[in-house]
Amino acid sequence: MADTPAECNIKVLCRFRPLNQSEIIRGDLFLPKFQGDDTVIGKPYAFDRVFPTNTTQEQVYNTCAKQIVKDVLSGYNGTIFAYGQTSSGKTHTMEGKLHDPHQMGIIPRIAEDIFNHIFAMDENLEFHIKVSYFEIYMDKIRDLLDVTKTNLSVHEDKNRVPFVKGCTERFVSSPDEVMDVIDEGKSNRHVAVTNMNEHSSRSHSIFLINIKQEHVETEQKLCGKLYLVDLAGSEKVSKTGAAGSVLDEAKNINKSLSALGNVISALAEGTKTHVPYRDSKMTRILQDSLGGNCRTTMFICCSPSSYNEGETKSTLMFGQRAK
Ligand code: ADP
Ligand code: MG
Repeated sequence: MADTPAECNIKVLCRFRPLNQSEIIRGDLFLPKFQGDDTVIGKPYAFDRVFPTNTTQEQVYNTCAKQIVKDVLSGYNGTIFAYGQTSSGKTHTMEGKLHDPHQMGIIPRIAEDIFNHIFAMDENLEFHIKVSYFEIYMDKIRDLLDVTKTNLSVHEDKNRVPFVKGCTERFVSSPDEVMDVIDEGKSNRHVAVTNMNEHSSRSHSIFLINIKQEHVETEQKLCGKLYLVDLAGSEKVSKTGAAGSVLDEAKNINKSLSALGNVISALAEGTKTHVPYRDSKMTRILQDSLGGNCRTTMFICCSPSSYNEGETKSTLMFGQRAK
């Protein structure tokens, strides 16, 4: 992949996880055929990159996120998403095992990388890094760093930049402090719900890293921010099987994911004067970090199992809309 994100600001990367134990026991087939940078299930898809199942967390990071960190430190905004059905590897890709150097995902690697860059930079630069962590569930924004804030709203600042009003911001000065914030947010999330797996598959979780730098002599300032988004599961809920709150949740997820898809495809076309950012809370929040001059990377996470063929196809189609 070229190191020149400015040429095409939306990258779509596709990652297949291995078959899991229960799929192997059931005798599911392994569907994808990997062929160069394309994958074939029925037809080829033009992604920027396809990662076969044996790709390591480090390889994924080096190919996609490393450059974004440099760009954010140069004053650009960016967003990295993981899209896919439940259990396709979104959280594995975004977070992985947080405290395991091999298995940690993109977010902890970004945290390390940011501080490594900063230590190597001009001593006359002063950095202020703050992070927020929240989720969107049933169109409500919940602060994962303050459980009392369960329904925050999106406002615009004086430059018309949208932000989540009142959301906790934590200043961090080392990778460990970033990890502490993630651990705290995750444990708050666990406390608030009865079944964490079900809940995480129905809510979008968003980790925001905001970097401000100022030159101590010239007072020149530079700001960049990066949204890291682990989306709700994209699977279709069958209308016959679901009722009541489950159906409401499904409709809600569907609506917000299609709003995201519409924004991404309008940006990818590049000719559209109207990008429908205002159709969902998530796209409003991400407005100044998607498309344009921003670095946008979307991970399309897929199961390789024949059992999930239908969902995998629609996941691949979603990614294809961005190209
Ligand atoms: P999601 O967040 O999309 O629901 P997870 O990331 O939780 O899915 O992944 C489901 C399971 O599969 C987890 O146990 C995870 O560790 C495992 N897994 C996902 N992707 C990979 C991968 N690329 N390699 C090995 N295991 C993976
Ligand atoms: Mg998950």
